[in-house]
Amino acid sequence: MTDFSLELNEDQLQIQKWVHDFAADVIRPAGREWDEREETPWPIIEEAARIGLYSFEFIANAFSDPTGLTLALVSEELCWGDAGITLSLLGTSLGVSGIVGSGTPEQIGEWVPQCFGTADDIHMAAFAVSEPDAGSDVSSLRTRAVYDEAKDEWVINGAKTWITNGGITKVPTIHVVVAAVEPELKTRGHASFIVPAGTPGVTMGQKFKKMGIRASHTAEVVFDDVRVPGSCLLGGKEKLDARLARAREGKSSRVQAAMSTFEASRPIVGAQALGIARAAYEYALDYAKERQAFGRPIIMNQAIAFKLADMKTHIDAARLLVWRACWMAATGKQFQAGEGSMSKLYAGETAVSVTEDAIQILGGAGYVREHPVEQWHRDSKIYTIFEGTSEIQRLVVARSISGLHIP
Ligand SMILES: Cc1cc2nc3c(=O)[nH]c(=O)nc-3n(C[C@H](O)[C@H](O)[C@H](O)COP(=O)(O)OP(=O)(O)OC[C@H]3O[C@@H](n4cnc5c(N)ncnc54)[C@H](O)[C@@H]3O)c2cc1C
Repeated sequence: MTDFSLELNEDQLQIQKWVHDFAADVIRPAGREWDEREETPWPIIEEAARIGLYSFEFIANAFSDPTGLTLALVSEELCWGDAGITLSLLGTSLGVSGIVGSGTPEQIGEWVPQCFGTADDIHMAAFAVSEPDAGSDVSSLRTRAVYDEAKDEWVINGAKTWITNGGITKVPTIHVVVAAVEPELKTRGHASFIVPAGTPGVTMGQKFKKMGIRASHTAEVVFDDVRVPGSCLLGGKEKLDARLARAREGKSSRVQAAMSTFEASRPIVGAQALGIARAAYEYALDYAKERQAFGRPIIMNQAIAFKLADMKTHIDAARLLVWRACWMAATGKQFQAGEGSMSKLYAGETAVSVTEDAIQILGGAGYVREHPVEQWHRDSKIYTIFEGTSEIQRLVVARSISGLHIP
């Protein structure tokens, strides 16, 4: 009996090739331009929407892979092309994860298609959790959501920061916002809300100028007396009331609003990091075989060859961790040791070290903009910071393996 296999099935191979071709033909050649423009690459999003890659149907299909691997494969291939452009394409999926993580089936059916729109009428979504004083420490959120019973509306006030796709108005953009309903209950008093595109009171603050992933829009978003219908509370009022009652009595509750989204999305973020690492490794391998020094290709020095061997080993190890976490999540296997966090931690740190090694292998050529490795190194660094820093991933793993609430 051999029912263990790491071989991809036909569907997965086909999707992987289709996305790889788009990454090679459209994304990679445009990477440098959009990095320097520091703008959302609308023509590429339009092209991706036209071929169905940026669409509700594509994401729904990828999410429904029973092995859980399709979204990881797609993410790796896109980021192999360019991470900043990829985040412009996949930022919407983070908002979608927020809806899928906390919404009822009806809410998922109503809102997820609206996050993408159509090829002729592109929409976007953003997932807004972080605040100036609440990044790693999600329990300190100050954004408040207050229920106005007379009107059956929620009133949201607060300021979010570092939000991917946050405050975009060029196309209709849905914000999925995590806010405190009962701040004294900390994370257990949080809830997620849909703020439909065009809702009055939502404004963009500063748009950040970044070190890397510069084609991806990152901005502050201010919510000033933003009113949304009661139906925009993800999961519904009855469920929230029951959860708050349990929390007030000190009973354990299933999941917290932001955390459930992050646990599910971390392996996918790890897969993105993997794509950057693989791009840099392949580039450095080719260069090392071509570049001559002391009358021989530089790869003929063990110092270079062993570096490449280590790079490849780390990349493959990271992919196995990512695939395991995706497979566990998709097949309903409980994470035992923070496997989602572990995969993002290892893949993120691998991307940083592999891209740095690639610069070293290219020497001076690695440091200048004629070659893409300096950009890939700048792009890789975000993967040890967003969706939980490396320290926070280690905390999740440490708590899981010890059973202790390590502060
Ligand atoms: C480009 C970009 C895009 C982003 N996109 C989004 C988005 O779409 N939506 C969103 O909600 N957020 C987003 N973020 C925010 C991101 O998730 C946060 O920046 C991240 O969670 C870290 O929070 P912080 O920046 O406040 O750092 P801090 O929490 O202030 O951490 C600073 C340092 O202290 C360390 N630290 C903090 N607490 C501990 C601890 N208990 N133990 C050990 N070390 C600790 C951290 O690891 C880090 O090294 C984005 C950020 C960036 C830069």
